[in-house]
Amino acid sequence: MTAGTLSHLAAAVRTKASTASAARAAFRASSPFISAQRATSTVRFSSSSQSGSAGNDASNSLNGTPEQYDVVIVGGGIAGSALACALASGRASGTQKIALIEAFDLSGHMQWSPKPDQYSNRVSSLTPRSVLFLKQIGVWSELDLSRVAPCEGMQVWDGVSGARITFDGADAKKDSTRSSFLRQVFSGASSTPASSAEFFDDQQQQPDFSKEQESSPLAYMTENLHVQYGLQKQILAHKARGIQLDIFERTKVQDISSNTSSGQESDASVDISDWPVIQLDNGRKLQTRLLVGADGVNSPVRTFAKIESLGWDYSQFGLVATLQIDPSTSTAPDQGKGIAWQRFLPTGPIAMLPLNNGFASLVWSTTPKIAQDLKKLPAKEFCALVNAAFNASPAELEYLCKNIGPDGQPLVDFQSEIEWRASVQDAEKGGINRGREDYKAPKVVDVQENTRAPFPLRMRNSNSYVEDRVVLVGDAAHTVHPLAGQGLNQGLADVECLARVIEQGLLSGSDIGNIHSLTPYSSERFFPNLAMLGTVDKLSKLYNTDFGPVVWARSLGLTAVDNMGPIKTEIMRFAMGLEEPTSSRRV
Ligand SMILES: Cc1cc2nc3c(=O)[nH]c(=O)nc-3n(C[C@H](O)[C@H](O)[C@H](O)COP(=O)(O)OP(=O)(O)OC[C@H]3O[C@@H](n4cnc5c(N)ncnc54)[C@H](O)[C@@H]3O)c2cc1C
Repeated sequence: MTAGTLSHLAAAVRTKASTASAARAAFRASSPFISAQRATSTVRFSSSSQSGSAGNDASNSLNGTPEQYDVVIVGGGIAGSALACALASGRASGTQKIALIEAFDLSGHMQWSPKPDQYSNRVSSLTPRSVLFLKQIGVWSELDLSRVAPCEGMQVWDGVSGARITFDGADAKKDSTRSSFLRQVFSGASSTPASSAEFFDDQQQQPDFSKEQESSPLAYMTENLHVQYGLQKQILAHKARGIQLDIFERTKVQDISSNTSSGQESDASVDISDWPVIQLDNGRKLQTRLLVGADGVNSPVRTFAKIESLGWDYSQFGLVATLQIDPSTSTAPDQGKGIAWQRFLPTGPIAMLPLNNGFASLVWSTTPKIAQDLKKLPAKEFCALVNAAFNASPAELEYLCKNIGPDGQPLVDFQSEIEWRASVQDAEKGGINRGREDYKAPKVVDVQENTRAPFPLRMRNSNSYVEDRVVLVGDAAHTVHPLAGQGLNQGLADVECLARVIEQGLLSGSDIGNIHSLTPYSSERFFPNLAMLGTVDKLSKLYNTDFGPVVWARSLGLTAVDNMGPIKTEIMRFAMGLEEPTSSRRV
């Protein structure tokens, strides 16, 4: 245990102190067998370091003796930063010595001061569950709510057949005493709550989704930078009130090893020989009771722990951009509400997510070539193509995309091509391929400069989320296609669960790095994440074709579900994070 930490903890948990040391002794006795699997392993990561570390406030570990921590979090993305905040706000975990390591600049997020008519291109739809968690850790109140757009409804339709499903946030609130049909389909489990009450104490309350449901829209849209801004503000506030939270920014993890000297002890009673040692590219070394990998899809921590990650790359890129729209052109029943629009095309889904002040965020999943071409197109033609992608037939869209020159120049007059084709279709009374006139997405009138950026799309799932002294959260544990807007929400649910498991472990005197202490986290999160990954992957594959029988079958399904109130309600509750499939399976 690091200097001073045990005494802090002992003060915090008072009467549990003797139980704690007994439990630690028991865990120490059981851990050598598990850690022996990695007894001498060292994993070195390529280091194209940024400008070294700045603002590092850890005391000197340059003399070769690693500095000891209770928790080291690698990765200061949203998941890692949220975990730092959650631990810092816990009654017991707030007494721990914590380090957060990030390759990029974190303090820069504090300078974020966007203009009202500008939105950054990385926007996430946060479920009510994620928002509740951000509220609980004090981050939500740091946000500028004028930059958070509630999404009250969603229009999803098949670009080939025209079959459509309409989601309305109000429907999800209708019946909270449902039979939980989908939960049983997913897991075969009974409809017990997703989280087990055994991990909560009076500080780490079980999120009360039922209350959130009463007042929530389907989701809240906001910029990732905005969330990061709130997180970094909270981290600073925790530091200011004396929480031992050291930030290593612009610092890369160079390698991680599992054993420096056998039998090493930090004080008379604690054997730290199986604590991982993290070598930073600024020359410092840290040694930790618990190493958290919040380091994204290529997680160095996962590599160190020899946890296999399975999955595949979709041959798709997600092109993001900030759009300016004309809201008055939307023909949805209630234009005042934020509505998300998603159309499934054979090349991938295109989605327009509502922002405030007449802006919207685009995520267009398409082939790598089309994504690159779209990035280069002049703004006017780009907007014409986005409008066509929401309204024209897939064949028309394919024709237009093929007429983008090598330098992004249009080879035909896009606007007149689109208008001519629309007039022909109108004359034919509109085929099923065209958007229904009563539910038409708003017209895109401009694209904000320098916001078009393509991201490779992947599906990955780690075989396990925990190893002795190592735990994975967020994209390090699982990465999902963005079509359902769930990746970050899953990561935040991981963080909420892990913080609760750590808090409970500390309060019961457990060694929080021991695999037995971490297993409840894995048991709670692995199956819901896997079920989400599988569902989203199947959806992406189902819609990635224009093969007649498949189109017919999926359209029948979509139309049927649209007419089945209870099942639609259930789907919405899953999408809002209000329910999850459960499993008693231990992973
Ligand atoms: C186009 C697109 C749209 C999306 N839309 C949504 C949405 O609407 N809703 C939603 O919920 N999700 C969405 N997602 C998914 C979401 O963006 C991710 O799931 C989320 O950002 C992952 O966060 P993370 O903190 O787990 O990982 P990351 O954001 O990848 O953070 C990992 C961090 O670790 C750091 N790191 C890595 N290696 C090292 C090292 N060696 N040393 C130090 N630091 C290191 C990195 O610099 C990085 O900052 C979308 C994804 C894409 C691609």
